[in-house]
Order: sequence, then structure tokens, then C-alpha cells
Amino acid sequence: MPNPLFQPSTLPFEFPDFPAITAAHYLQAAEAGVAKHLEELSSIAHNTDAPSFENTFVALERSGQLLRRSIMAYWTVFSAHGTDDLREIDPKIQSLNSSHMDAIHLDKELFDRLASFDAKELTGEDARLVSETLRTFRAAGAELSEEKKVSLRELNGRITDLSSEYSRKLLGAMNEAAPHFETAEELAGLTEGELAAAADAAREAGHTSGYLLTLVLPTGQPLLARLENSDSRRRLFTASLTRGQEGENRTLDIAAQMAGLRATRAELLGHGTHAEAVLEEATAPSLAAVRERLAELVPPAVANARAEAEELAKISGAAIQPWDWAYYSAAVAKERYTLDRGALREYFELDAVLTRGVFTAAQKLYGLTFKERTDLPLYHPDVRIWNVFNEDGSALGLFLGDFFARPTKSGGAWMNSIRESVSLFGERPVVTNTLNIPKPSAGEPALVSLDEVNTLFHEFGHALHGLFSSGVYPSLAGTSVPRDFVEYPSQVNEMWALHQEILPNYAAHHRTGEAFPAGTAKKLEAAALWGEGFATTEYLTAAVLDLAWHSLHAGEIVADPDAFEDRVLREAGLIPGLVPSRYRTGYFKHIFDGGYSAGYYSYIWSEVLDADTGEWFTENGGLLRANGDHFRKELLSRGNTRDPLESYEAFRGRAARIEPLLVRRGLAKG
Ligand SMILES: [Zn+2]
Repeated sequence: MPNPLFQPSTLPFEFPDFPAITAAHYLQAAEAGVAKHLEELSSIAHNTDAPSFENTFVALERSGQLLRRSIMAYWTVFSAHGTDDLREIDPKIQSLNSSHMDAIHLDKELFDRLASFDAKELTGEDARLVSETLRTFRAAGAELSEEKKVSLRELNGRITDLSSEYSRKLLGAMNEAAPHFETAEELAGLTEGELAAAADAAREAGHTSGYLLTLVLPTGQPLLARLENSDSRRRLFTASLTRGQEGENRTLDIAAQMAGLRATRAELLGHGTHAEAVLEEATAPSLAAVRERLAELVPPAVANARAEAEELAKISGAAIQPWDWAYYSAAVAKERYTLDRGALREYFELDAVLTRGVFTAAQKLYGLTFKERTDLPLYHPDVRIWNVFNEDGSALGLFLGDFFARPTKSGGAWMNSIRESVSLFGERPVVTNTLNIPKPSAGEPALVSLDEVNTLFHEFGHALHGLFSSGVYPSLAGTSVPRDFVEYPSQVNEMWALHQEILPNYAAHHRTGEAFPAGTAKKLEAAALWGEGFATTEYLTAAVLDLAWHSLHAGEIVADPDAFEDRVLREAGLIPGLVPSRYRTGYFKHIFDGGYSAGYYSYIWSEVLDADTGEWFTENGGLLRANGDHFRKELLSRGNTRDPLESYEAFRGRAARIEPLLVRRGLAKG
């Protein structure tokens, strides 16, 4: 059987024939793809014709198609359905990919050829392609001496290996830390279904009796809001907070080692710190500007968190402990706003939220229509596929939804592209949204929480960013924007979840069909600020911690990571003993194995644009086709084909203001 990845698929949208592709095929195609790409790069570098835009930058964009096609299909399947055979080849693929990046960016002949092209006649997207490509090469070390390039390759290799090790140990630490309870009484407050799942988990982990509570990645475990026994809450919380601190699965030293190596690499590349290097590539003007923004937000957020703690103490009758926070916070919401967030899921059925909520908002704003198709080969039977059409009936792309949790799926929720919208190749986009909604048992409806409703809208915002991309070149397409900009379109799309014209369209009681109570929508609005002090503080704590780890100078060694974490947070005016970081050093996968190093600040940075955009829609009449078209034209379709902040100003008519964010998060003065 020939490797199906070696030729473009003949299916519609060149959709990969997933069931026919084995792990060995992926590895073989990646290896062959790297070899082929190196040959192509060599012919670009050694072309004897005078350098032209076409034979340098455009040729570079055209190169590496086998590798690109193979890696995009591989990444889709590995993250969503990473079976054992794929896990076995994954370290090989990671290291192949990382050393291939160095092989491209550190190739002197290739870089010299690119840099020798005179681009001053170019304009628009072509000019942008030249400046962005050269910037990427330089940031990756293209101009270093050959001797320094040797050191850089070695550092990159070690950092890639340490990232894999961090994740492997973290997985072990998560399993090891899951607390075991002997009796159901200790777990009072959980539903029958949750108890049954905990009993299954205990058996699977080798216990002969009792219940095991498996952990999710952030510090806050969802069950803390409902466990009635304070000691059980303390055990679950402590297990979460101390992951990676002890024994064989200790991750703290790997984190410290990585931070040290990143500082060394930053110095080699001519920067003071890793954070400075990262900020060079961001939309934020400087590291100082990011620090200043965080420093401005911390005091009012902490003041709000302390005020919330006082409210909690009133209802609990004693000073609040961090493990009791979520439980009493839910109690205050019930008492003060008569709002039972847990009960909302009865009104949110997955298919309705998607087709009558998410899709309807996209129809009203952008004129899109969706038609499900069942003729394409899937990597898992739970995946669903829709054709997406523009208002005039023309095909826009394919949208894949893979919503249910399974043991082979990575945690969290994400969007990715199997193909990007790139006119150089005449390609139409194929984008996916992957979530981790617990799968209902056969015959039961899939009900989702309010948080999951928001996640569905959020991830679809990323999908729109990919689908609407109208650029020529792959490296500038769609979501290929700076890290601190990419969360902006997705956050904007969350605004429609509770919108008065969208919510009633999808929210109905799954058994009785009863409409979503108007009173409940009002309660949600009234309670919007409750808990924001805690949420903002726990987020800012993680952002400050990330920057602290990545502001080390070369040679600076952190011997005691725990003490370091505590010190930098207290110095920033945070209160980690009461409101711990959303992720602590021991389990901060975003920054130690996830591409967000010195970038966790991005969420609030993007949210400034998001909140300001919300205001623009309100000022201009809300959910209207004309508004959607304007947002699509100036922003969503642009990708990185022009400076993203220029796109923002073209959309908004001015630079973003921070006030709408301060109001939304309850941080405005007076
Ligand atoms: Zn996102």
C-alpha cells in the first residue's frame, strides 16, 4: 500500500483519507517531507538567475508542501485521537520538526539569497511577505556566526527535549496526585453519574474500592464548587496545587532548567532576557508596556478579590480558605442572585447550541449557511463535518466539530487547520474545533455547561478567522498572527453567546422544550461581576509568574523554584496564599510545553481589543450583516497580510481604548 500522504488527496477539499493513514505513514511522510523540503530550499539558495520576488520569497512559500500536508494531518489526529502508535512516534516527529526549523532558518546561503533581493518596489501583501520572512529568519538566529549557530542548535534541541519531558512527567504527576476517597459520604454533593465515574476511575487505577477524583490542568478543580465536605475539598485542592513538586514526577527542576536555557539562548540571540526576545515578535510595544499594564491591573483586581473573600466569610461564618472559595462563591450566587449556574445545562443541548446558536450568529453577521455532510472518511466516528457557504451560495470551506472527550484526546479546547485558505495554491480552508465535553451515555442528550457554551462560541471565533482568511501566502494566512493578537477574534465571538437575539434561539429545556426563562438571562447579567475579582487575580498571577520565569538573565540559576514563585508573586502585590495562580510552576504547561512562554499575558492583552470591539458593535446597532461584513473585511480576512494593529484601526477607526475592559472586569475607578 503506497503512503496516502505522498500525493494530495483526491477527495473534496483534498481531505485526508484518515482511516488509510497509519502511524508509520505519518513518520515516513514527515521524514520524506523534510528531505524533499531541504532539496527545494537548496535549489532556491543556489538558483543562478538574479534574485526576483518569484524565485526567492514566493518559491519559499511554494516549498515544503509534502511536509506541510503531512504535519497538518498528523497534528489534527495526534491531538484529537493520539492512540499508542501515534504516541510512540511523537517524540521523533517533534524533534524532526524542531531541527528542521533550525535547518531552514540557520542556512546561510538561503538567508543571504533572500536578503540580497531588493524589495523596495513591492507593496501590500508582497512587501509584508518579505519583511515578515526576513524578520522570522533574523529572530531565529540567521545572522549569527557559524560557531554561535552550533550552540543555538544544541540549545534548541535540549529545550525541545525538556518540553517533552516536562509534559510526560506532568501527566504522571496528575495521575499520581488524583485523590482517593473510601466512602460516598465524603463526596456528598456530586451527582450519581459523577460518583459512578469516580468509582470507575478508582478501579481503573487499581483500587479495589472507593472513588478517585481525576484532576484537570488548572488549579481550580470544577468539583470544588459542589463538594459539601470541607475536608474533601481541602484534599482535592491540595492535590491540585502540589502537582509536580515531589518524587519521580517532579517537574519543578525541569521548569527551572528550561527557564535557564531560554535565558542563555536569548543572550546568544542578542536579547537581555527570553521575555524581551518574545516581545520583539508581539503586537505589544515593549516588555515594559506589558509589565506596566499588569502592574496597573493588579491592585484593583486584588482589592476586588479581597472584597469577595469578605462576602464569602460572611456566608461561611469563618475566614475563607482557598479550597472553600469556589463552594461559597456558588452559594453567594444562589443567595444573592438566586442564580444556580449548575442548573443552566438543562437548557443547553449541544446540537442546538451549535446549529441554532453558534451557526445562527454567523448567519446573521456574515450570511453564512451550513450543511452537514457524511461522505468524508473520519479519524473517529464522533467527528462531524459541515460545508460552509457564503451568502451568495459559493463554497467557503469545511468545518469539522469534534466535541466529546475521550482518553486519546489532549485536554482543553482548540481550533486547528488541516488546510489553510491560500490563493497561491487555490486552496479552500478546512478548519476544526476540538472540545472535551463529557460524552453522554447512549440515548441521553448531550447537555453542556454555560462555560462550555462560551467555549463553543470562542473556538468558532478562531474557526472564522481561519475560514475568512483571504491572503495569497501560507505564512501570512488566517491565524498566523502574533500570539498576543490571536485570541482577539475568538474572544469577540463569545459576545454572541448570551445576546438577546441569539440565546432564545438555542436555549430551551431539553425535556419540556420550555423557553430559557427571561428572568434567568437578567440574573446572569446582574451576576456578571460576581467572581471577577477572583478570576482576574488568578489570571494575573499566572501572567506575572510567566514573565518572572522568563525575565532571568543568562547564568541566573533558580535553586528553589517554589520559593522563587512565592517571592515574585508577593513582590508584585499578589496574594497566592488566598488566590493561587491559575497554573503554578509545577503544572504550567502553556509556558513549559505549549508556545506561550512569556506570552500568557496575551489573553488580557487581546481582551482590551475584544471589549473595545464589543462597544463598537453596540454603538453600531449590534448583530447586523453590515457590521459583520465590516469586521470580516478589515479584520478577520486579513490574517497577517498587514500589521494586525493597522487592521484593528482600519476596523475601529482609532486605536483601542482600555476603558471597556476595565468596566467589564469591574476594575474601573469610582
Ligand atoms: Zn482561544
